[in-house]
Amino acid sequence: MNEQRERVSSTHPYILQDGLFNRLVSLRRWFHQHPEIAFEEANTAGRIIAELDRLGVAYDYAGVGHAVIGRIAGQDAGRMAIGLRAEMDGLPGNESTGAVYASVNPGKMHACGHCAHMAMLIGAANLLVRDSPPGPVTLIFQPAEERGGGARTAIADGALGNMAAIFAGHVTHEYVTGQIMVRDGLVTAQSDRFVIRIRGKGGHGARPHEAIDAIVVSGFLITALQTLVSRETNPFHPVVVTIGKVRAGSAANVIAEEAELEGSIRSSKPEVRKHILHGLERMIGAAAELHNAKIEISFAAGYPPVVNETAATGVARAAAIDLIGDGNVVAAEFPSMGSEDFSFYLEHVRGAFVRFGARQPDWEPIPLHSPAFDIDENVLAIGARFYDRVARLAHDRLATHVN
Ligand SMILES: [Zn+2]
Ligand SMILES: [Zn+2]
Repeated sequence: MNEQRERVSSTHPYILQDGLFNRLVSLRRWFHQHPEIAFEEANTAGRIIAELDRLGVAYDYAGVGHAVIGRIAGQDAGRMAIGLRAEMDGLPGNESTGAVYASVNPGKMHACGHCAHMAMLIGAANLLVRDSPPGPVTLIFQPAEERGGGARTAIADGALGNMAAIFAGHVTHEYVTGQIMVRDGLVTAQSDRFVIRIRGKGGHGARPHEAIDAIVVSGFLITALQTLVSRETNPFHPVVVTIGKVRAGSAANVIAEEAELEGSIRSSKPEVRKHILHGLERMIGAAAELHNAKIEISFAAGYPPVVNETAATGVARAAAIDLIGDGNVVAAEFPSMGSEDFSFYLEHVRGAFVRFGARQPDWEPIPLHSPAFDIDENVLAIGARFYDRVARLAHDRLATHVN
């Protein structure tokens, strides 16, 4: 990966040196400074609508908690549409970037870069209005990517009507600004959550023989569950089981009656996912038997895997090469174990999800969702231009007339 980073030329023409770039920077800073969390994106949607109004782009919006769906008619309104998607929501948490445009909303932050994605899409709208595309382009500003799968809301709001293909991108520090990652096939993992509730028997800390210690049972389970991955799945089929939250006990001299473990599973193959889900139930049954405790598990299915479709991926790659040159378009060797609700769109229409490098070469990479995450704003021009190009190219290669 370092080799790929070194290859970025400092002279390629990705910076929009015009008023539009300045506008995108201030727009992104406004979004960044005023984050709203899943399904509460009222002011964010209001600002997007103001920008679409300014551009004369028609839109649908059913109110707070819904998607803003901009519709650019293009030269031939009888063609199928190409979709471009951005997310509106921030995350719970307090930002630590120290930026002048840091969040002014306590406990809310744009630590996943969705502020940048919205600005990019508005940038693309500017370019598409300036020079009309061959056919319709649908701009989807969806709520709640982080929690709740707002993509499903956007679909219910009618975002995918007569659509031939859909594209989205995500900023990341895994690559430097000027690089775009395009990968065919699996891009992000399936996510699932689970909660394990252990019920033992409370008692005095000095009299263990009268109690069933829920903390000892949970300690056993926490380590035992790791063997599902390390001993039971093929090392070439990526999967992660994480216990991220443990709750038990009330005092040093009281044996805990109850314990609760919350965890997440990321998997890349349905059969591996199935094995892990069954394995969790099997181990829980065995631990209950072993320790004479009652243990229950409940699952909540998360987002399905994002699988890029080959023809759409080809269009995304061609648009990226056209924009930043062959040497700056990279294909990750492995899928990400993160998850993305873009997968819901891909259940209905083919498409591709890319990543935009958003870090200057001398920056220390910071992961998404970190309160310290921020972007190199030059990526805004790259994203805007990428979306503009991918929409035009997809019209040429993938869209037909609506029957
Ligand atoms: Zn995120
Ligand atoms: Zn995100």
